[in-house]
Amino acid sequence: MNEAPSDALALGRGTGMIRVAVVGGGISGLAAAFLLAERGASVLVLEATQDVGGKLRAETVAGVPVDVGAEALLARRPEGLELLAAAGLAGERIAPLTTAARVRAGGALHPLPARTVMGIPSDVAAARESGVLSEHAVDRISREPDLPPLRALSDDVAVGVLVRERLGNEVADRLVEPLLGGVYAGRADALSLRATVPSLAARLADGGSLVRAAAEVAAAGTRTGSEGPVFASLRGGLGRLPQALAASGRFAVRSGTLVRSIVRRDRGFVLECGPVPRPEFVEADAVVVAAPPAKAARLLAGVAPAAAGELRGIETASVAIVTFAFPRLDLPGGSGLLVGLREGLAVKGVTVSSQKWPMPEADEAGLTVLRASLGRAGDAVVLQRDDADLVALARRDLRALLAIDEEPVEALVTRWGGGLPQYGVGHVDRVARIRADVARVPGLAVCGAAFDGLGIPACIASAREAVARIAPAVPAQRGE
Ligand SMILES: Cc1cc2nc3c(=O)[nH]c(=O)nc-3n(C[C@H](O)[C@H](O)[C@H](O)COP(=O)(O)OP(=O)(O)OC[C@H]3O[C@@H](n4cnc5c(N)ncnc54)[C@H](O)[C@@H]3O)c2cc1C
Repeated sequence: MNEAPSDALALGRGTGMIRVAVVGGGISGLAAAFLLAERGASVLVLEATQDVGGKLRAETVAGVPVDVGAEALLARRPEGLELLAAAGLAGERIAPLTTAARVRAGGALHPLPARTVMGIPSDVAAARESGVLSEHAVDRISREPDLPPLRALSDDVAVGVLVRERLGNEVADRLVEPLLGGVYAGRADALSLRATVPSLAARLADGGSLVRAAAEVAAAGTRTGSEGPVFASLRGGLGRLPQALAASGRFAVRSGTLVRSIVRRDRGFVLECGPVPRPEFVEADAVVVAAPPAKAARLLAGVAPAAAGELRGIETASVAIVTFAFPRLDLPGGSGLLVGLREGLAVKGVTVSSQKWPMPEADEAGLTVLRASLGRAGDAVVLQRDDADLVALARRDLRALLAIDEEPVEALVTRWGGGLPQYGVGHVDRVARIRADVARVPGLAVCGAAFDGLGIPACIASAREAVARIAPAVPAQRGE
């Protein structure tokens, strides 16, 4: 790279402000940009696609605005709600009308037992009542012995492996797999206990019963967040949040700009952007990399090679969401359903959006809007179908799950290739190694779904951490 940085892309030059380039305009990058701007930095977000938002995106299906990526913000953590308010959207916040969900297991639908922790029952009576487990399985969990601290826990263990060992295969296949499949599109037998249910891992380090540890976690959750609904969204979709952040005017956004490499200079960094034949260069004092793991690995290869190597080791799962608008259906109440592992269906979850959220446009048009999700880690074959085939497959499963035979008014397929990082066994230590290597480079930080959790609040928390790392690295008012 021997060209001078393009003036068009140089950040806040000559203003004396810290100039920060944020790579990736998903919720993590936008949250970092917003917070850095609040601290007085001059920030430019570089986003490869034509629009910001990443996995937060609202589309219109049969005239009804609906999220086709993330649709529910966990309201029991503060980060998401605080960002939403800072973006001026507090008045647009909506709460779910219902969160009652069901699970398909053994060929039938059952209510999801109350108070599970990622599917691990915390209440044997509730598990029995839901009917999702056989009497034999309920009996087994009611007699779970206290065990000494698991030695493996200090080195992490897969959630599914632990659950199968302690509570049996039914709990793993009918409860834990569907829940983890819903959140991570992952396999319980591969996902890390420490990374996916850290509160449970912490309690089990002292030994004892899994069910009792789950009960303690559930009780602690109730104590700390008893006020208000568990989830939140926005009128018109959560996809409005990134749009509002980008429109806040606090920082600049350049979309349609792929960052190809980051090079360290004596002072700061130079980012090579755009198409290979016509590269453009951005100078910055600090850089936040907020791109998904494989892309972040490529960008960090020259500046933090050990972190890049670790990021390359994070696998991802691909999913597709098929959003349907049907003439109003007479469905059982509730927000939707999850599907157990051994049900022989491709659809792994259904959200009945127009029952879960207030959707006046759907009500007025006499429509039922629902989303079917397909794809799990290690099973990309199902997603190789073209859109028409995927819609047909989703309809086949909707027939089996909810007896829906009607023709949809519209169906929209949204593919999230490599959309969900998988937190394998040892993930927490891997993240610590990544952060340690990145921290060796002053002015460099990383954030995103690959680190502390896939959920939006966890992504924002990782952005806060990135901002905290960068802000002291460069003086707030740097003389030119
Ligand atoms: C289908 C689906 C449903 C989900 N549902 C929920 C939910 O209901 N609630 C919840 O809390 N979470 C949910 N999640 C998870 C959550 O949406 C994501 O973990 C989160 O949005 C990730 O945000 P991010 O900014 O880290 O990454 P992304 O959203 O992936 O953003 C990264 C951005 O970086 C850009 N980029 C990549 N490489 C470059 C480059 N070289 N140069 C410039 N730009 C680049 C990408 O184009 C992208 O815009 C869901 C995820 C999916 C896929």
